Amino acid sequence: MSSVPRIFVAHDLQADEPVPLEEGQGKYLTRVMRLESGALVRVFNGRDGEWKAHVRQESGKRVSVIPETKTREQVKTPDLTLLFAPLKKTRTDFVVEKACELGVRRILPVMTERTQSNRVRTDRLQATVIEAAEQTERMDIPVVEESVSLTEALSAWDPSRPLYYCDEAGEAHPMATVLAETEFGPAGLLIGPEGGFSPTERHMLRKAPFIVPVTLGPRILRAETAVVSALTLWQALVGDWRDHPYLPETSNG
Ligand code: SAM
Repeated sequence: MSSVPRIFVAHDLQADEPVPLEEGQGKYLTRVMRLESGALVRVFNGRDGEWKAHVRQESGKRVSVIPETKTREQVKTPDLTLLFAPLKKTRTDFVVEKACELGVRRILPVMTERTQSNRVRTDRLQATVIEAAEQTERMDIPVVEESVSLTEALSAWDPSRPLYYCDEAGEAHPMATVLAETEFGPAGLLIGPEGGFSPTERHMLRKAPFIVPVTLGPRILRAETAVVSALTLWQALVGDWRDHPYLPETSNG
């Protein structure tokens, strides 16, 4: 993939319409990347595709980028929501970074009885996913919602969407088997905390009509491993890994 720096901006993107950068972004381009006026960058805003743009150093420390030509059309990321129980600090950062790379559209931290982290820094997580989206070359930014209780998450869930409940206790079908018979469409994945779901929660989950219990094999995975495994399975069997043109035109494969 191109080595030209890629940055997310909130502004609309139109040819020759300057986009003022936030101070941190301006510093990153001019100080860290040592780019001067006229240098090329790529910008995206999650709505207008990706544009080739050039840097313009304004008066003082202000920096703008001037979009020139659209180089990639806007594409939608699958309508997949990850519900996960926040983990201790860096492990939550890891979860949201991998969820961004693995193409979720929405991230919903859910507080369960055994969740060990009682506070979620949503602003920090949103900054993490922006950085991950820039790196992973995706065309949009996942939404990181404020944390809710598991009960609230279930009562607000759209019942037309399957919510795959990763149950480490194993009384369920393998996720791959369940997904093999599933059509592409909006869905959710639910992963529990380090201590797992409580018996009360498991009972509540299994009563919900939209819940689809699944297993991720015979071993107990750490929560962050379960997130990566479940998202990988969903994207590979149902999501946008299936029809991605992964073979270059010239391939003989
Ligand atoms: N109760 C165990 C514990 O105390 O360590 C397991 C919790 S596990 C670390 C965290 C979450 O990862 C579980 O709630 C579940 O959502 C998911 N998980 C881990 N291993 C799994 C498996 N083999 N099948 C399905 N889900 C799994």
